Amino acid sequence: MRRLFLGFLLAPALLAQPRTISPTVRPFVSHDGAVIAIRGVRVIDGTGAAPRDGQTVVIRGDRIAAVGASGAVSVPADAQVIDGTGHTLIPGLVGLHDHMYYSSAAGGSMKMMLQSYPRLFLGAGVTTVRTAGSTDSYQELNTKAAIERGVIPGPTMFVTGPYLQGPGPGPGAMHPVDGPDDARRMVRYWAEEGVSWFKAYTQISRAALGAAIDEAHKHGVKVTAHLCSVGYREAVALGIDNLEHGLFANTEFYKNKQPDACPTAGDSAIFAEANVDNPDVQRTIREMLDKKVSLTSTLAVYETSTPSRVPRDQRVLDALMPEAAQAVARWYDNAANAKDAVGRQVLKKTMAFEVAYLRAGGLLAAGSDPCCLHVIAGYGDQRNYELLVEAGLSPAEAVMVMTRNGARVLGVEKDLGTVEAGKQADLVLLQGDLSASPEVIRRTVTVFKKGIGFDSRRLIDAVKGQIGIK
Ligand SMILES: [Zn+2]
Repeated sequence: MRRLFLGFLLAPALLAQPRTISPTVRPFVSHDGAVIAIRGVRVIDGTGAAPRDGQTVVIRGDRIAAVGASGAVSVPADAQVIDGTGHTLIPGLVGLHDHMYYSSAAGGSMKMMLQSYPRLFLGAGVTTVRTAGSTDSYQELNTKAAIERGVIPGPTMFVTGPYLQGPGPGPGAMHPVDGPDDARRMVRYWAEEGVSWFKAYTQISRAALGAAIDEAHKHGVKVTAHLCSVGYREAVALGIDNLEHGLFANTEFYKNKQPDACPTAGDSAIFAEANVDNPDVQRTIREMLDKKVSLTSTLAVYETSTPSRVPRDQRVLDALMPEAAQAVARWYDNAANAKDAVGRQVLKKTMAFEVAYLRAGGLLAAGSDPCCLHVIAGYGDQRNYELLVEAGLSPAEAVMVMTRNGARVLGVEKDLGTVEAGKQADLVLLQGDLSASPEVIRRTVTVFKKGIGFDSRRLIDAVKGQIGIK
């Protein structure tokens, strides 16, 4: 009650500040009232608590002012009112592996999607992203600044430095780090330029990774990795903050793995043995928990290796440029007949590992890895939600993984990640009951960022035919 009362006292001061929206962002905005109230809505608040029906959520400026049962929270007289009946309200999604580039299927070209991806992320309900490996960190830093200045619509960005890759074959946008000194030089430079994370990649050496982590931490910057040459337990011992992709990016389960080298291809025997109850798997989970190393689930991109179970998504084809859409349509056509029994087994085990890590007390978050094929910005994050529920999480848990847990990994949980009074008003209004049907995550109506309501449809329509690379 005290908080509500204070809210009324503060109201005149806040009302005096009009919402300034630039002409380039204005066309996408549906709600810009100084006070907005969503009435009669089902809330899944991101804390893991059970869904609550008949809630009223009051947004004042860029903050959530009140949340509670519609009888208990009064709607201010000056509020712009939204009828939330038949809708679900969740916190804005926090995508931790949400690149700003798309790659060609062949040849490894990586191209920034600076026109389309920020709009599509936001339109699909993703209000915060960590780019998790960048092909052009300056373009990302400038895009982040443009979004913060309100020049373009898009999610809040946590920019990652260029990939920390080792020597040897790697995609063209990556500098091959040749040792600890080179790693420190690169980390120092980009930390000073303003990136807040680094992602180490598949060929990095233990020495270079350890030096990169040490230098990053001296600059208040964190490190995640898509590992291969270094194992999970080795990286945990070196002080890494976060690991990407889950169980099968951990090469310690390969029998013939040599230090600092990726195991040779074809050694797929480990898939059969790597079960959650395997003592090595359990030891890895324990050591991650002891060192508070978080894990990013990327189930949507894993589905590329199980084509036969990927649902054809017309929205993806609509968003792709014609040439890319044709290629992905052909991929969908062939997918139904793919022989992917091993891939399905791997996906199942990956899901089980993530659930076990979360249930053991691990900080599991998620990201779309919108790299390629049918996995693109925003829609990939939505697919992750569906797959986390399929993995065995309750709707409330899956929302928590994709919102509050992501905010915790980024260190911004005081401000973001839940539907609670005082938090920044980053919210997604979905048509339907998300707890009854996972696919409701795709039915974004209004996406609030800092209390401004964006029309999801307009953002999505604006990127039609734009995503892709030749
Ligand atoms: Zn990635």
